[in-house]
Amino acid sequence: MPESAKDQAIVIAGRDLGESDRLITLFTALNGKVLAVAKGAKRSRKRFANALEPFTRLDLVLVPPRNGTGFFRIDSAEIKGCFPVILEDVQRFFLASLCCELVDKWTRDADPQLELYRLLVWTFEEIARPGEARRAVLVFQARLLGHAGYAPAWTRCALCGNEIRGAVARMRLDKGGFACAHCAPGDGFVSMGALKGLEFLQQRPLVHVGRLGITDSQFAESWSIVRALHRYHLGEDVFSYGLIACPTKTPHAAFPTPA
Ligand SMILES: [Zn+2]
Repeated sequence: MPESAKDQAIVIAGRDLGESDRLITLFTALNGKVLAVAKGAKRSRKRFANALEPFTRLDLVLVPPRNGTGFFRIDSAEIKGCFPVILEDVQRFFLASLCCELVDKWTRDADPQLELYRLLVWTFEEIARPGEARRAVLVFQARLLGHAGYAPAWTRCALCGNEIRGAVARMRLDKGGFACAHCAPGDGFVSMGALKGLEFLQQRPLVHVGRLGITDSQFAESWSIVRALHRYHLGEDVFSYGLIACPTKTPHAAFPTPA
């Protein structure tokens, strides 16, 4: 028999499984993303109370699949934190859903990523705070690229390797990032201010990210840039992006589409 083990997790998705069970996608601290069966959760709401609601943070006991294939099983789950503010505010709900969708698309099953788990917990706590929630999600989007190994050199030319000088850079996602005017004179451009801001948000300690001053216009451009990066590397757009109210300074369609 596989041995059950304690873990922590955030519920990132769930659906019915057969007559009485639910299949829950968890992003866990120790096992990474796992699909886990919650036996009896559909038939009896009491079995897991509200523990399997989206974005809920859990202490749980997981039983791994036999022979290493198939689903985990949730033996028990206790709510460690929940975010009613996110469930009640539609824009916060979509922002948290975007984070879950990105984690689901960027991570492999059972590939532990403790730092990314901590980042997701931080992001949900920030989304639940009063005030602007999108900034924390921009931080999450930029840092997720780093965790996945796809963070671009934000301020260095992807073609010649030199530091990009001047106020603008050229989008060259096919080369992994951005280029200087000398190397890519004709391509669509983005401001160096936005790229330096994204570099700050991706690389500085989380406790410092609130220090960056960022205008609405810079925010909109930065959002478009990370969205384009995610779309390019995933090879598809991410559904939740379409639900979030965010002005776009640079027309999204101007960015190169995935090859
Ligand atoms: Zn160059």
